[in-house]
Amino acid sequence: MTDERRPDPVVPDLLARPYWIFDMDGTLTEPVHDFAAIRAALGVPAGCDILGHLDTLPEGESRRLHGLLDEIEIELAGRAEASAGARRLVQALDRRGVRMGIVTRNTRQVALRVLEHIGVGSYFPAGSILGRHDALPKPEPDGILRLAASWGTTGRSAVMVGDYLFDLQCGRSAGALTVHVDRTRAFRWPQFTDLAVASLEELAELVERGISRE
Ligand SMILES: [Mg+2]
Repeated sequence: MTDERRPDPVVPDLLARPYWIFDMDGTLTEPVHDFAAIRAALGVPAGCDILGHLDTLPEGESRRLHGLLDEIEIELAGRAEASAGARRLVQALDRRGVRMGIVTRNTRQVALRVLEHIGVGSYFPAGSILGRHDALPKPEPDGILRLAASWGTTGRSAVMVGDYLFDLQCGRSAGALTVHVDRTRAFRWPQFTDLAVASLEELAELVERGISRE
């Protein structure tokens, strides 16, 4: 044994679940969203939730700024990069027959572009991508519950992978197992996390080892 780490007891449960749902931005992709710059462009006060703030504005203004936000996100989509291990993980899950989906606060249109751009588009059919117009926003569990229902299952058969508190909270509320990906290794939300990894590379390795043990 070269790896002295004790096996994490949650891993077998994770590998037994046939539905995996991902956050997109900052999870499957490297974080390129400069949220401070986006807030400045849209006139959203520092520290405010961007979508939440836009929804408090008069309808016309809100619609105008949502349009501007869509433009910013489409521009960012062309610069998206896969996070380390993203393709390897998705391929390993695909080999296990896992069905995969996305719940994102981005739009489905932008998500399709980004996933294609980073080379994993073929693993995520359009119907398995729920954007901000398709479900109540995270931390609501709605997106996971909708995807699970569309697959004829429940959140208890799913794994939710994300880089932010809302991903973990929505996963937990839906009955999914939660994986927190945090390159800083600060792992700030252990109460909502079933497995913590520093990268998708690390997660891919666990999934691949799971295969080889069978
Ligand atoms: Mg994210």
